[in-house]
Amino acid sequence: MKCRCLEWEGGRCALRCKELKYSKELPQISIIFIFVNEALSVILRSVHSAVNHTPTHLLKEIILVDDNSDEEELKAPLEEYVHKRYPGLVKVVRNQKREGLIRARIEGWKAATGQVTGFFDAHVEFTAGWAEPVLSRIQENRKRVILPSIDNIKQDTFEVQRYENSAHGYSWELWCMYISPPKDWWDAGDPSLPIRTPAMIGCSFVVNRKFFGEIGLLDPGMDVYGGENIELGIKVWLCGGSMEVLPCSRVAHIERKKKPYNSNIGFYTKRNALRVAEVWMDDYKSHVYIAWNLPLENPGIDIGDVSERRALRKSLKCKNFQWYLDHVYPEMRRYNNTIAYGELRNNKAKDVCLDQGPLENHTAILYPCHGWGPQLARYTKEGFLHLGALGTTTLLPDTRCLVDNSKSRLPQLLDCDKVKSSLYKRWNFIQNGAIMNKGTGRCLEVENRGLAGIDLILRSCTGQRWTIKNSIK
Ligand code: UDP
Ligand code: MN
Repeated sequence: MKCRCLEWEGGRCALRCKELKYSKELPQISIIFIFVNEALSVILRSVHSAVNHTPTHLLKEIILVDDNSDEEELKAPLEEYVHKRYPGLVKVVRNQKREGLIRARIEGWKAATGQVTGFFDAHVEFTAGWAEPVLSRIQENRKRVILPSIDNIKQDTFEVQRYENSAHGYSWELWCMYISPPKDWWDAGDPSLPIRTPAMIGCSFVVNRKFFGEIGLLDPGMDVYGGENIELGIKVWLCGGSMEVLPCSRVAHIERKKKPYNSNIGFYTKRNALRVAEVWMDDYKSHVYIAWNLPLENPGIDIGDVSERRALRKSLKCKNFQWYLDHVYPEMRRYNNTIAYGELRNNKAKDVCLDQGPLENHTAILYPCHGWGPQLARYTKEGFLHLGALGTTTLLPDTRCLVDNSKSRLPQLLDCDKVKSSLYKRWNFIQNGAIMNKGTGRCLEVENRGLAGIDLILRSCTGQRWTIKNSIK
């Protein structure tokens, strides 16, 4: 018999979560919060909500990892408060120097004794019933990494904003992003079912303590912020486990606009992403280098030693990255057809680069070189010349490509899949040579108009030469 739905929401049963029942005998969890210079009141909100919304018999302990904060209120006042309010429940771990969020979480794990460990930012709020579905899924299979669904706490008002059910994907820079759940989840028509996810946002995840150790925790060679959330997703899938989001378990998280620590997280995410690429991605590592517009050889970033992580992959007999893409992240776009990538420069105009310009104009322009996404050119085996940051999933638009429509003197920037003429979107190009359209024979050139500026135009070839910064051999 089908169970009765108590409340419908857009044609779907909204209350399936409340109909689910869980065993009383579930493993105990150690809840680990990490923080650096967080407001004391915010940390305490997180702790109170963990205590209030986790059944007492399932909460082994709360571990607060102070990643070497400077604020005085986070020293004795914090400790005195939690020990008095929750005697015997809270452990405080202090890092002697700033370790970054990855090693801070590992320090928390070392101090934990519960069968299960949950890792959270110290600015979250648990909801009633968050723990049972999570612990139940891990009890069924210890190799599952479970992510409660994330909702947003608005940083100005602390109002909770419910997010759609989603999986957690990422771009080729390895920035995480919410993506639509896989098709089979939608087809099943039950919003309480776990959502298979390729990776995690990272502010909230729960895993069997010993299993987490067996698969090598997070990568301790990563600094400050970023990349570890993707590494864990890839690793757990490739090495015999799985990762899923549970719609019936909800934790809200403050999305803050400014971080109370090292503001250059872009640099660390880039560095950590290269570690992930070098250890886990096989031939697809090129995609991470392309996305960050770095040369594959000598990228000029010291990523540290990855030999231990490679040895870990070997000892765990993990599958290859192709398997992961095919089975776990099939919607991710692939760019194996790339021959050259990076800024595209003309020999007659060295300080400007090809740039996608304002999106709505649909024409490429010249702009002072900066090498970021809008100037990422990519020449492919098929002879396409793409311009713009790499695409992510097939549900989102891909980068556009250069087209000679045979009429305009301006190079068009269009969705290649929608351009019918196969020749007008193909170009002849070798490094330090002309860029010539295969359909019209016109060349992409620059026209210097003195004080009026430099134009990018299509015209009869005059022998101008172009180079794209990086090549793939
Ligand atoms: N964090 C840390 N050490 C660092 C940087 C961050 O312990 O050097 C902690 C931070 O206090 C937070 C978590 O890592 O609990 C994630 O950082 P944040 O909330 O700034 O990232 P976001 O959620 O905005 O991605
Ligand atoms: Mn956070």
